Amino acid sequence: LGSDQEPETTELISNMHQGVSNILVAVRCRPLTKKEKEVDDFKTVQILDGKLVIITEPPGPVNKRLNEKKYAFDFAFGENVSQQEVFNKTTMFLLEGVLSGYNATVFAYGPTGAGKTYTMLGEVDKLGIMLMSFIELFTRIEVLSNEREYQVKISYLEIYNEIVRDLISPSSGYLDIREDPDKGITVSGLSELVATSPQEVIECLRLGNKRRTCEPTEANQTSSRSHAVLQILVEYREKNTGIETEKATGKLSLIDLAGSERAANTKNRGIRLIEGANINRSLLALGNCINALYEANLKGTKTYIPYRDSKLTRLLKDSLGGNCRTVMIVCISPFAMFYDDTHNTLKYANRAKNIKTSSERNVVNVTYHISKYKDIINDLRKEVLEL
Ligand code: ADP
Ligand code: MG
Repeated sequence: LGSDQEPETTELISNMHQGVSNILVAVRCRPLTKKEKEVDDFKTVQILDGKLVIITEPPGPVNKRLNEKKYAFDFAFGENVSQQEVFNKTTMFLLEGVLSGYNATVFAYGPTGAGKTYTMLGEVDKLGIMLMSFIELFTRIEVLSNEREYQVKISYLEIYNEIVRDLISPSSGYLDIREDPDKGITVSGLSELVATSPQEVIECLRLGNKRRTCEPTEANQTSSRSHAVLQILVEYREKNTGIETEKATGKLSLIDLAGSERAANTKNRGIRLIEGANINRSLLALGNCINALYEANLKGTKTYIPYRDSKLTRLLKDSLGGNCRTVMIVCISPFAMFYDDTHNTLKYANRAKNIKTSSERNVVNVTYHISKYKDIINDLRKEVLEL
C-alpha cells in the first residue's frame, strides 16, 4: 500500500504530519484543445521537472520581447500527466489518515475551463480523484476488514450564491450549516448515502453533477457557478477488543470549486455579477483562513480564524483546522487568450504556497535544480526578500 509513492512525496507528507506545512500545492496544466490550437497554438505555460511552472506572455505588437515568470510548487503536472499520477501524488497519501479518523481536504482551484471538473470528477475511462479515492478506499477497507468494521457514507452538496443545496436530494431546499458540539460541523437535512461499492458512487455523482448550477457566461458555455463538495465519511469500530471498542470517523472532502475568474473579466451584469462577487467571497475567505491557520501554526497560539466569512469556510471549519491535511490542485490552461486568468491563478497559488513554506523551504526546494536554474533561484530569493 502506498508503495508507489516517491521519496519526495514521503518528505512532503512527513512535513504535513509534523505540522510544518498546512497545505500542499500542486499545479496542473491541461493540453490545448483542438479548437484552441486552430485559433492560436502558442502555449503560455511550460512545466519543468515536475515542480516548476514557466508562464510566458503571448507576444503581441506591444511586447515584442517574451515576458516570462517562473514559479515553483510542490508538484507541477504537465499536459501529459495521467489522472492516475495526479491521484497518486496528491490524494493517495491522505487515505491512510482518513481510514484512521483524520480529516483531509482536496480542492481543485482555477478559472473556468482549466480542468477542475476533469481532475476531480473525471470523464469516461478517465476517472478523476473523487472516484479513484473510492476505489482505493474500498480496496483498503477490504484489507483492514479483519480488524475493523467500516461504514462509508457520502454527501454531495453545492454552494451557489452563498446558499447550500443537496445534490443527492435536491428537493430538500436550502440547507443550514450548524456546529454540533459532538458531531462537529453538520448540514441539517443533508442526505447521507451509505455507499457499498464504487459503482453506486459513480451513479450518485453523475446524477448530482447534472443538478449542479451551471449557467452560460460569455467566458464559457458551461461554466460551473457553484462550489461542489463531496464529503466521504469513513466510520470504523475495532473488532474483537472486548467491551471497549474504538470508534472513529475520518472525513475526506473533495471539492470542485467554482471558476476563479473575476466578474470583471466575464462581462457579467446583474445576477451574474452578484454571483461573481459571492464566488469570490468564498474563495477569498478560503485564502484568508488558510493564511490565518498558518500564522496560528507558526506562533503556536490560538488565533482567530475567519471561518464565518463564507459558507465554504464555515463548512470546511473542521476540515481545514485541527489535524487536517489540505491539498490544493491548481488547474490552468496554456491557451493564449486565458493568459491573464492563468497568471492571476498562479499568483494566488503562489501565495498559498508561501503560506506554508518558510522562506528556507523555498530555497531548499530549488537548490535541487541549482545547476540548471540559477536565474530561477535568484528570482525566488528576491521574492523571499520581498515577503
Ligand atoms: P473546469 O471544470 O475547470 O471548468 P473542465 O474540467 O470542464 O474545466 O475542462 C475543460 C475541458 O478541458 C474539458 O473538455 C476537459 O475534457 C478538458 N481537459 C481538462 N483537463 C484536461 C487534461 N488534463 N487532459 C485532457 N483534457 C482535459
Ligand atoms: Mg467544472
